[in-house]
Amino acid sequence: MIRLLPQNLINQIAAGEVVERPASTVKELVENALDAGARNIHILIQDGGRALICVRDDGEGIAQADLPLAIERHATSKLRDEDLFNITTMGFRGEALPSIGAVSRLSITSRHCAADAAWQLNVVAGEVSPLRPAAHPQGTTIEVADLFFATPARLKFLKSTSAETAAIVEAIQRLAMAYPYIGFSLRDERRTLFDYKPSAPDDHGCRLRRLGEIMGQEFPQNALPVESGQEPYLLTGHVALATLNRASTAYQFLCVNGRPVKDKVFASAVRVAYQDFLARDRYPMVALFLEMPPLYVDMNVHPAKSEVRFRDSTQVRGLIIGAIKKALNAAGHRASTTVSQQALGAMMPASRSSAWQPTLQPFAPRAAPPASSPSTASIPGGMLSEDMQVSQRTLSPTYADFVHAAAPSQEIMCPLGVAKAQVHETYIIAQSQKGLVIVDQHAAHERIVYERMKQRMATQNLARQTLLVPEVISLSEAQVEALMPHFEMLQTCGLAIEVFGVSDILVRETPAILGEINVKQLILDLVDELAELDNAVALQERIAHVCATIACHGSIRAGRRLSLEEMNALLRQMEETPHSGQCNHGRPTYVELSKSDLEKLFGRT
Ligand code: ADP
Ligand code: MG
Repeated sequence: MIRLLPQNLINQIAAGEVVERPASTVKELVENALDAGARNIHILIQDGGRALICVRDDGEGIAQADLPLAIERHATSKLRDEDLFNITTMGFRGEALPSIGAVSRLSITSRHCAADAAWQLNVVAGEVSPLRPAAHPQGTTIEVADLFFATPARLKFLKSTSAETAAIVEAIQRLAMAYPYIGFSLRDERRTLFDYKPSAPDDHGCRLRRLGEIMGQEFPQNALPVESGQEPYLLTGHVALATLNRASTAYQFLCVNGRPVKDKVFASAVRVAYQDFLARDRYPMVALFLEMPPLYVDMNVHPAKSEVRFRDSTQVRGLIIGAIKKALNAAGHRASTTVSQQALGAMMPASRSSAWQPTLQPFAPRAAPPASSPSTASIPGGMLSEDMQVSQRTLSPTYADFVHAAAPSQEIMCPLGVAKAQVHETYIIAQSQKGLVIVDQHAAHERIVYERMKQRMATQNLARQTLLVPEVISLSEAQVEALMPHFEMLQTCGLAIEVFGVSDILVRETPAILGEINVKQLILDLVDELAELDNAVALQERIAHVCATIACHGSIRAGRRLSLEEMNALLRQMEETPHSGQCNHGRPTYVELSKSDLEKLFGRT
């Protein structure tokens, strides 16, 4: 027998989708406050929202006659022209309040802006009581007590108080990033979790400030502005330098027409834009705001309205990738300040104990290094990559003189400074105008070679160099079989390979950019890496990956002694090379400590 379900059961079913946990309840109530034009929204929770959720706003309020309607299913004041494709409000489905009312003890107290008295409506598990006069300033307070007490089965799905609280914090913070002008505060039974103040409508810096309050101050300090208009879209916001990255996507935020959304198109666009700079398991911090006419995006694809569908997702994806890449390109060789702060943190003693005093010892200067000192030893030519050789060849005597006799004033001209020494055959120490620069020679050179390869591949084919004697490399049959489909792609990256017998391959040509390398090791690495990249990875991404591996093999290694000329040549190349502040995995290639950092380190300030 088929029968129509009673209204309250329908509402309880809807509650499972619309307000499946305290955080989604809070989100719906805060969205209602935003739609009502509130300037300040105060939220109180108890027991992770299970015992109590109270949201108070100073918006326009609800008129007495509208109060009973607010808790009717599919009753809304928002979808005025009945056009689902012209949505300009956070709400439009008219489902939240009836759903919440069906599963909790709900009380709505409100005073409308045009009224001189406030009214209260109570609903307990769907049972509505008559309206009561109440005391309340303009605006609305909604209290939800004992959420899901009417559907005990659902209570069992809730997590610990701290997990539910964390989800509530995240839900409100996402809205607070989308509405930086509005004040938001959250308290629980013990403390204030945050209190973001409202800003004046003409305070244009408030968005970045709010992002800093929520994502951490290092974000505004290390974020690059994004602004890109492409009719009918407008994309603004900030993206972090690649060296400021995280282990999850939790700090990737997209807001579409004022609504924070989780979106696959966005996630993949961010991944592609940063693909050159980050290891696969690291994620950049990003906050982007996309505006478009409502017609270009379907907001009604998810009961909790947290997903959208773009009319032209390819165009949106291209816009996001292009805008992020443009911002990153503009950053040049910059690495995030967090890098130097971390370095400083690691070097500083935890506390400077006043009891401890260094024993002063007479300082005996060492004898000057002999003429054949390691720091100026020349490097056998063939071992350097093409890039380094070129820079060595172009070193004019005057330049070399300059390198040795670098006067402090020359350090303006060179942001990464003048090389002073190499330590552990791995790090270059340079004096810059601001202070001290420490460069990881392998990471930095790897980046330079990679960028050079990319640039050449974009304009012409990568030059190959024929090996005098082709190199035979023994692999397993399975490895040869796995590698074969990639031969053509490897050729575009400068590697000419043929099958030789059953389980051997023949390498005839290698990228000219590399100079002399260990071909066998490079091929073995590529075999492993290509096997790891699954089939879904696009050709472009594969090529980038292969180039990165080639660059790694073609770069000066840690453990190589460099002359001052070589060190300075490397620093100058870094300055000219985009993205040279980070290696291909998002780690920094250099750390800069300012003079004041050094003073701090030695307690001189
Ligand atoms: P929707 O937001 O989709 O319209 P809701 O069930 O969330 O559906 O709310 C129903 C109606 O109650 C809203 O359309 C609005 O008119 C009114 N309302 C709810 N919360 C508030 C509030 N805080 N301030 C003013 N009006 C509100
Ligand atoms: Mg709503």
